[in-house]
Amino acid sequence: MFQAPRGTRDFTPDEMEKRRYVERNMTSTFLSFGYGEIQTPTFENIELFTAKSGESILNELYNLTDKGGRELALRPELTAPVIRCYVERLQMEPKPLKFFYFGNCYRYDRPQKGRYREFQQAGCEIIGVDTTEAIAELLALAFNLLKNVGLKNVRLNIGNLTIINAIFKRLNLRKDDQKILLPLIDKSQFDDLKVSLEDCGISEKNIEQFISILQRSEANEIRSFIADDPDAIKELSIMETIIGLLKNAFQITAYDIKLNIVRGLDYYKGLVFEIDAPLLGAEKQLCGGGSYELVSLFGGTEVPTSGFAIGLDRTILALEAEGFKFPPSKLDAYIIPVNPDMICKSIEIVQQLRNQGFSADFDQMRRGIGKSLKYADSKHIEKVIIVGPKELEKNAVTLRDMKTGNQDIVSIAEIGSNLKKI
Ligand code: AMP
Repeated sequence: MFQAPRGTRDFTPDEMEKRRYVERNMTSTFLSFGYGEIQTPTFENIELFTAKSGESILNELYNLTDKGGRELALRPELTAPVIRCYVERLQMEPKPLKFFYFGNCYRYDRPQKGRYREFQQAGCEIIGVDTTEAIAELLALAFNLLKNVGLKNVRLNIGNLTIINAIFKRLNLRKDDQKILLPLIDKSQFDDLKVSLEDCGISEKNIEQFISILQRSEANEIRSFIADDPDAIKELSIMETIIGLLKNAFQITAYDIKLNIVRGLDYYKGLVFEIDAPLLGAEKQLCGGGSYELVSLFGGTEVPTSGFAIGLDRTILALEAEGFKFPPSKLDAYIIPVNPDMICKSIEIVQQLRNQGFSADFDQMRRGIGKSLKYADSKHIEKVIIVGPKELEKNAVTLRDMKTGNQDIVSIAEIGSNLKKI
């Protein structure tokens, strides 16, 4: 028997209903924030992803050589493709540009619950502006997207790479050491971090202070540690303004400053953030984003760029974990011909209803009224239309309310208005 490839999944109509609900809901939030939808190819030239991250990213990619000898990769994320598209076609457009997308991504990850090799991201990029109000709105959008789909329990964590780099500078850490330390910081592995910092020759006092800053992210403590670095002090006050807007203007209070948020990808700089659904355990990160630099690397004129991506699969897992009731999409009406002679008229009625904008289906199994009613009930259909010869003589049908069991004779021309009325 054939099986879906490792790390991929099929989605049945019930599962697709949940995914489409989340997509529809998120689309309307993106649109309400002035974002326009963008779509890019599923595969790209491989250099698009190796340009910043280097060859090491190849281990995480699905790459292939096509029949023309081109080195390609299935996209692992959509930020680089969207920025490529911007540089290729949209640089002259009036700023800011606000793009959102939905797309499948492919990573050679180790599959487990919430981690797949093919998964879907919903995300956005804002190009050409990095004022505090633009970044505050970006954070608010990420938070609102998850709140509006119905999640109750989400937490926004905000970090800053400029500040982390200033701390690294103050500690005289070399670039190579930083590469080893960042993943430990990202995963909050403070014991291992302490050992690595000791290996780097950092004093006991500085190690303690650094780890305390990472754990507590207390503004005064951070400020005094980086006091000699004017750029980092400026960045700290920018971050405070952004957080002030988030709290006072966008009314979002479920956030923490967490300097140990450093993000995996290499192109981020300045402010970075993540949103977690604590109920999900290990794979609880729903969203990740921040400000980054890619435009000049792709041959464009540098402009500020920021964005984020939300994992759609994990969003659904988080909704399920919270016991969210997804709105069911059910048929407006089910039509039952009582015998084969009624089939033609039944189809006419189904088509009449479909043309009037209702969703309708009819029994194609010829299984009789009792079994057809049972089927309609199992599909939670509320209105059933029974087409029988006696009523048909008067151009009428029986309309049954499945909830109450009440039945009415209604003329065929008025079925639509009756469906609306009830
Ligand atoms: P990233 O592009 O790594 O910042 O990921 C953004 C979001 O995509 C994460 O917060 C997850 O929700 C989701 N995500 C990343 N990798 C996977 C994966 N392998 N399977 C499912 N979701 C993922």
